[in-house]
Amino acid sequence: MNPEQTTCPMCESAYLIPKKAVEHYCYKGHDFSLEEIEYAECPACHSEVVMPDQSKRNETRIRDEHRKIDGFLTSAEIAHGRERFNVTQSQAAQIFGDRGLAGKSLKAWQWIN
Ligand SMILES: [Zn+2]
Repeated sequence: MNPEQTTCPMCESAYLIPKKAVEHYCYKGHDFSLEEIEYAECPACHSEVVMPDQSKRNETRIRDEHRKIDGFLTSAEIAHGRERFNVTQSQAAQIFGDRGLAGKSLKAWQWIN
């Protein structure tokens, strides 16, 4: 869905304008902030809404931050590792475990590093 063509769900009199902002979060007692968190604003009634596709992208980034706090690998780190060592996705699954994110897999990661 393109936010530029989405009518404001609140006043239904204008198209939403995509925007980005720095948001602050707290997870398990750790504070972190993310730049360019996406949302959309209505120029007529100034309602702020998050479109489903924006929400999806935001949540992926928030989840990655949670993984860092939990000591797990982020999806980007796993992808980077696969590239660097030229391993396939199934080989990576063997190295990192099926879910790729377990704490003990991080040790395996450091070992091959
Ligand atoms: Zn509106």
